[in-house]
Amino acid sequence: MLRAETVDRIVRFDSRGLPVSSVYARIDADPGLREDLHARVTSLLDEVNPLAKNEAADHDARLSIRADIDRIKESLAQERWQPGAIAIFACSGRNLYEEVPLPRGVRDEVAVDATPHVRPMLTVLDEFHRTCVAVVDKASARLWEIYQDELREVGKVRGQALRKPNYSAGRVEERVRNKADELTKRHYRNVVQLLDELFRSEDFDLLIIGGHEFEVPAFIDFLPKDLRSLVAGTFSIDPTEPVLAEVRANADAILQSYERAEEQQLVTDIFDKLASGGLAVAGLDRCLWAGSIAAVDTLLALDGAAVPGVVCPKSGWLARSGDTCPLCGNPTRPTPDIIDELAQEVIAEGGSIKHITGDDRLAEPLTAASIRFPLPPEPAG
Ligand SMILES: [Zn+2]
Repeated sequence: MLRAETVDRIVRFDSRGLPVSSVYARIDADPGLREDLHARVTSLLDEVNPLAKNEAADHDARLSIRADIDRIKESLAQERWQPGAIAIFACSGRNLYEEVPLPRGVRDEVAVDATPHVRPMLTVLDEFHRTCVAVVDKASARLWEIYQDELREVGKVRGQALRKPNYSAGRVEERVRNKADELTKRHYRNVVQLLDELFRSEDFDLLIIGGHEFEVPAFIDFLPKDLRSLVAGTFSIDPTEPVLAEVRANADAILQSYERAEEQQLVTDIFDKLASGGLAVAGLDRCLWAGSIAAVDTLLALDGAAVPGVVCPKSGWLARSGDTCPLCGNPTRPTPDIIDELAQEVIAEGGSIKHITGDDRLAEPLTAASIRFPLPPEPAG
């Protein structure tokens, strides 16, 4: 399973002057398309091949790219990549080789650059919340973890339920009912305790609750405030024999609308801040300047947007154009996607990024950001 540390290591990777090879490839679920995958990845690597053979280029750089290509071909031949997509980051001269499985397809792409090309990977990963799904009834509970494409059982509780009494006379019946209520409460408290432990020891973001429509609200009443605030939604399912596919489909639908709502809220927050003169900027140029001086807290970028630009390798200045960095006077290097460079910079400085899929308010500015301090005037270019 993909760990946050792996992503972090790739994003912060410093190649100290050597080129980094980044490859993205879609992996189809149909094994009959294996040959097609082979052809696609081989043709991506063929695009890079001239760089490995270019006698005019730096010797170490050539050797490193050559070794990257060999290593990726070797891995391709082993045919062990899972359906979805694979992202590969290699810089053999600096001992970097990471394969990151992605849960959904991305565009096939290859890049050889001074830094890893991480944005497609981040775009996919930031859509996934680590979620706990609990299917609960009066006497039992099953808990699963959902992260990316995996559904894994993480807990089970079986409470004591009273068997249906076969006697029924006034006060006895009432006593039996009270006893049943008592057992249900005790069971709910056990489930809550288990959830509480899980959320403390593992890094869950969200909680989804399934069960009988008439029982779920009562269970939610038992959740402490901090857990209740993480409930992304509830769904109705027969809790005695929950069908996994049904659990998954319900949870996915809840997560999807949660994600859209969250994106829209982020956009709203930043535009509200901007309107009231707070710490926010909108538009690519302003965001690039904010990124150049490590001022970005949260960057919102329109999913799929790519704009060419320049980066100063010395000071980290980012802009759409300019041969010379106005901050330090060094020559800049061109990049096919300055938003990608900005995203890397933001992550490296401890900020966060959110790729926004469907919000028209970002169509024109492409990016917007909350910032940590008011921006100083931009240097004259
Ligand atoms: Zn500079």
